[in-house]
Amino acid sequence: MNTVYYKEVTDGAIAACGALIRKGELVAFPTETVYGLGADACNTDAVMRIYEAKGRESDNPLIVHFASPEEIATYAEIPDRALFDTLSRAFMPGPLTLVLPRKGALSPRVSAGLSTVAVRVPSHPVARALIAAARTPIAAPSANRSHRPSPTSSAHVLEDLDGRIAAVLEGGTCRHGVESTVLSLCGELRLLRPGAVTREMIEAATGRDVIVDEGVLSHVADKKQVASPGMKYRHYAPNAPMTALFGTDERVRAAFCEAQRTGAAILCYDEDLPYLSGDTPVLSLGAKNDFDAQAERLFSALRELDRLGVTRIYARLPGEEGLGMAVKNRLIRAAEFDLIEV
Ligand code: AMP
Ligand code: MG
Repeated sequence: MNTVYYKEVTDGAIAACGALIRKGELVAFPTETVYGLGADACNTDAVMRIYEAKGRESDNPLIVHFASPEEIATYAEIPDRALFDTLSRAFMPGPLTLVLPRKGALSPRVSAGLSTVAVRVPSHPVARALIAAARTPIAAPSANRSHRPSPTSSAHVLEDLDGRIAAVLEGGTCRHGVESTVLSLCGELRLLRPGAVTREMIEAATGRDVIVDEGVLSHVADKKQVASPGMKYRHYAPNAPMTALFGTDERVRAAFCEAQRTGAAILCYDEDLPYLSGDTPVLSLGAKNDFDAQAERLFSALRELDRLGVTRIYARLPGEEGLGMAVKNRLIRAAEFDLIEV
């Protein structure tokens, strides 16, 4: 298949991509989190093509993207209207995905067999224009091959999916750089995946406690128990094995120097740079407390390490407050739970 790359996002490009979605084809498009791989969420054949193009496990459900919070009620039950209204006023459009009981015309494949569906209203103008042109909700996971770092630029999308999808819409570099926050509203408020809408922000807006699902920051041995199916798979991983360190500055830096002597590449913070003396590749995610910068750079840094052909990576875990929790969650998964306290 010849993938059409729309470098200029004109009205004509949006109309053409909207028509492709309506025909059941796949279109990659920018969002404020990462690039998404979109298909008509009501067309099962189209949704199946997403799984095929990504090589995604068939039990890992997709997020469905809507033009407005009002539209969500046609396709999902709203168990607590007041809570939904509070969350949608505070965070929609934006990087918050809600898990709700499903209903209506969505393909059952978007839910991968679950009785729930994950829904969100993106804020990126290109994503919004595409949904409007398609005149249907758009199912869209991240536009990468499964298990690879998520794409934060159109170049990343083409790296993984050129020739496998109908079109890519350009939208610059993604602002947040990590995928949306996934919050279940089925029963208690449960954070299934941390993202740019932080636990603290949700608690402040709702006045309620958010339970952080066990799978977010630790390894759940019994994979059947994972509330968010995507959490049980190898994810975001660079080609080289990665170990994530945590501990005092002094100890982590000493461990980094030791790792460099064995030829490992280092993924660290700006403050660590003066202490690293080896000649292996060193990438910084930004200042130690600048979680926004870290989130924005994380996936492109992992892809950069792949491009450099490194064979071993040592990284450093951030704190858990605010957006730190999302960065930490992605790093833990990229390291496949190989964590060492130094
Ligand atoms: P991605 O589409 O790659 O951003 O991944 C979507 C994430 O949302 C995965 O971790 C899924 O497991 C999660 N997700 C999607 N739908 C549901 C659902 N109905 N219940 C729980 N988690 C979901
Ligand atoms: Mg993904």
